[in-house]
Amino acid sequence: MRRLGLLFIWMVAAPAVATSPVAPLALKAGHILDVAAQKDIGPAFVLVSNGRITGIAPAAPAGFTVIDLSDYTLMPGFIDAHTHVLLQGDATQAEYDEQLLKESIPYRTLRATQAMQIALRHGFTTLRDIGNEGAGFADVDLKHAVERGVISGPRLFVATKALAPTGAYPLSGFAWELNVPHGVELCDGPEGCRRAVRDQIAHGADWIKVYADRGYYRLPDGQFRSIPNFTQEELNAIVDQAHRSRRKVAAHSITPSGHAIALAAGVDSIEHGDVLDDASVKKMAEHKVYLCPTLTVTAYVEGPRGGVWLELSKAADASFRRALAAGVPIALGTDAGGFPWDKLNQAEEFHRYVDRGMTPWQALRSGTVVAAALLGKEAELGTLASGAAADLVAMATNPLQDITATERVAFVMKDGVVVLQPAPR
Ligand SMILES: [Zn+2]
Repeated sequence: MRRLGLLFIWMVAAPAVATSPVAPLALKAGHILDVAAQKDIGPAFVLVSNGRITGIAPAAPAGFTVIDLSDYTLMPGFIDAHTHVLLQGDATQAEYDEQLLKESIPYRTLRATQAMQIALRHGFTTLRDIGNEGAGFADVDLKHAVERGVISGPRLFVATKALAPTGAYPLSGFAWELNVPHGVELCDGPEGCRRAVRDQIAHGADWIKVYADRGYYRLPDGQFRSIPNFTQEELNAIVDQAHRSRRKVAAHSITPSGHAIALAAGVDSIEHGDVLDDASVKKMAEHKVYLCPTLTVTAYVEGPRGGVWLELSKAADASFRRALAAGVPIALGTDAGGFPWDKLNQAEEFHRYVDRGMTPWQALRSGTVVAAALLGKEAELGTLASGAAADLVAMATNPLQDITATERVAFVMKDGVVVLQPAPR
């Protein structure tokens, strides 16, 4: 860290990391988007002290250092509710195999720190990282490293190893005498799955991630189906055990075959949900089960994978509209890591929601207040309320006018520390 004018700047490459700035700050913005109230306020000042927002004021109080963002629109930092920081793109099975077989977990963890830097500089101050694809509990270490100031990065909510039964998840297809690593923790039978949940929580899992289905296909009448991975009893046991420990469950589920068992078990979010039938949508809306659409990864993998993935991409478009119309809570999630962090900006997800019928306010809320509610952190994250974490982003264009402005953040603050600031003009 070094001092630059009156402002402490977080240097990305700096070895030492400060936990909070010294002076209280007043961020002078042309527009301030209060996403919770859906109000475009401004010009005004967001006040920040000890890493927390302390209020919004018409003027900077005495003793506050002003950061001039008067040409910018300021809003809460973005939340991506579906990422894999330990993965660097796996459009094809070969790319996935390569990472698990040829990269050590320490090397993958180093790459994850780079991914986290990219996410942070794209305005994502919080990630729900759901499954580290064979990297043990390295996501817990990454989370702690951020919390303890060892590295800078988004705050992480982690799901550690994720769960699938034997034979339901890669790596697969290798010579039978080889002991290849698995991208998930395998668990079988209700008791075996309960034990796996307990072990993951014991090692620091904030969330439990399950793979509810695989093997997507179409019936002759055109309907999509898949292979449900777990028995109903296994999935019930997982959700019950997680909820007993005050942990929520995210279920990868692509077609109604997966949704049926996942929703019956009481999962808290459906991940991807490419094919949402009326029964699933109704149940999700009634029970406030969140949808994490991950449209950016869907668009990324459809070309390289081809076949049913092209059809799933089309279905995902209609499913999103159906869920939106039915009032299903939609938390922004991209599956970053499923696409390379350095090739696509995960903020593309915002415009995909607007393209499919969300208002700009709805899209911005999806990546802030709604995602924060999914995490159970609505008082603290994705909001400008007093006492909330001072996680803020600013854009030269108001995203209410052009939602793609979210892909061009010029200023990022996390926990009251400036991570990125506008280039001098
Ligand atoms: Zn994923």
